[in-house]
Amino acid sequence: MRISSKTFGALPFALLLATLSACTEESTPVTPPVEPATVATDAAAAESLDTALHREFADYSESLMRRMLARNPEWSLYSGRYDNAHQVTLPDETRRTEDLLFIDAELTRLSQFEPSNLPPELRIDHNLLSNRLQSMRWYMTVFNEWQWNPASYNAAGPIGLILNTPYAPEEDRLRTVMARLEQVPAFYQAARANISNPTAEHTELAVTQNRGTLNLLGSSLQDRVAASQLESAEKDRFEQARLNAVNTIEGFITELQTISAELSQRDRGRDFRIGAELYESKFAFDIQSGFTARDMYERAVAEKNRLHDDMDAITITLWPSYFPGVEMPEDRLTRIGQLIDHLSNQHIARDQFISEIERQIPLLAAFVAENDLLEQDPSRPLVVRETPEYMRGSGAGASVSAPGPFNPTADTYYNVTPLDDYNDEQAASYLREYNQWVLQILNIHEAIPGHYTQLVHGNKSTGLIKSLLRNGAMIEGWAVYSERMMLEAGWGNQQPEMWLMYGKWNLRVVTNAIMDYAVHVLGMTQEQAMDMMLREAFQEQTEAENKWRRIKLSQVQLTSYFTGYAEIYDFRERLKQQQGSAFDLKTFHNTFLSFGNAPVPAIINLME
Ligand code: ZN
Repeated sequence: MRISSKTFGALPFALLLATLSACTEESTPVTPPVEPATVATDAAAAESLDTALHREFADYSESLMRRMLARNPEWSLYSGRYDNAHQVTLPDETRRTEDLLFIDAELTRLSQFEPSNLPPELRIDHNLLSNRLQSMRWYMTVFNEWQWNPASYNAAGPIGLILNTPYAPEEDRLRTVMARLEQVPAFYQAARANISNPTAEHTELAVTQNRGTLNLLGSSLQDRVAASQLESAEKDRFEQARLNAVNTIEGFITELQTISAELSQRDRGRDFRIGAELYESKFAFDIQSGFTARDMYERAVAEKNRLHDDMDAITITLWPSYFPGVEMPEDRLTRIGQLIDHLSNQHIARDQFISEIERQIPLLAAFVAENDLLEQDPSRPLVVRETPEYMRGSGAGASVSAPGPFNPTADTYYNVTPLDDYNDEQAASYLREYNQWVLQILNIHEAIPGHYTQLVHGNKSTGLIKSLLRNGAMIEGWAVYSERMMLEAGWGNQQPEMWLMYGKWNLRVVTNAIMDYAVHVLGMTQEQAMDMMLREAFQEQTEAENKWRRIKLSQVQLTSYFTGYAEIYDFRERLKQQQGSAFDLKTFHNTFLSFGNAPVPAIINLME
């Protein structure tokens, strides 16, 4: 599962949970109840002052969050709110000026609340809101992606979401789409004025993605409007808006192709590598880690070496039983790779892929209960289903869809894409990747006690702010942490094969973190990155090629999984040391998860 603060379309997890009504912050006591007194003692006066302050902050922060949403109809849409879905945010100079005024005014207001005077739940909200506002300012005035990344501009996402989500009658949604289409020319006009010295890579991406937008606005949309109950005058107006939008986007694509051609003749223009300074800042804003990016990189390199040591020890032990009489290769990565390759043949049949996942979910829940690992809530079950058609398209896969903050009582789904669209060769390759061991780790990560369990816990404490400004490194870090925790607790019976496959699976997370930093900051080349993925992380060629592309086009996000995981794991080990025999794993997990989707260092701070 991926989480990105920006590319909402890429998030299987985009619509997270959270209860809107339960504003538990206000009732969180910071001081123990004082003795009843007939006269107002100092203590009682101080307490009521505190309570008033807490209420004031809770009201203000909630209102700030709602105003931020109202200013950003696209963000609203992705959060499951549709009341201003007809409005398009125009990315022009006027808007940027207004945004900066908004940010500065709210930062001033926020700074009037001293975080240390607030109870933990509210302190986290304060932290999340100031980070978000400062981050918006930095993106707009320092990072300046709005100038150099033409792929920031695409009208398709919100339109696709409106067309695919049955939140209102068909005709109402088509009218909303029509309203957005009528703003498409102004949107791309602003985009063209913004673009300056773009990278070749992001220019090419923008061409590809905007071609996809033309498909979305093509004949199937025409057919859908024709078949609708819109009146004929409205249908004509829709068609006019659609044609204007298509012309505008075609013009945008042509202009980008000209830029691309120029860039290929020169020295490719701006480097896609963002360099140390921007990387450290982006890491600080996006991840909100206790590490610097450099620390995290070094931690990941050490982890890679540790995994290789473990995997080699397992390989040496298992070799004779899987390759009797065959001499073991000298090179350790070669022998590990050969054993992984051999074991990958043990996988589920293609027509049993979904039923096997369904079978495992209750087993995982039972294991967590029997081993007292953490609290579960049987009243909020996980529903396994085939991925809905409109969510497919990026190949097979698995993801969790949870209700957004505006419809918290809806079901939580585990979406699994059946392998129907694959030919035999593709299916075989996919099933080898998700072999009998890795499939179990995937279920731990996505479902129990990974994403699904975490969000059931988060739901109990989370308000609007923690839900909408959720920390991706905490969410992904928890899921990755839960994989290792389950195997340590005995899931898989300490089978060496399970630990070997875990090593391969975890190496993906570890090398993603290494490469993202090394490419953007240390100048790692494509050849070096491919070598790391193919030889050191045992990946397939196609997977490695796709990953290289993603590294060029994004920054920092690929490190979130490892960073969150390493911070949670290290913290747990530190507590174990400190508390000795008093350490209780279940209490640790329940407490950790009780703070919602807050950044890991903020949770650590509150737990210590
Ligand atoms: Zn995930």
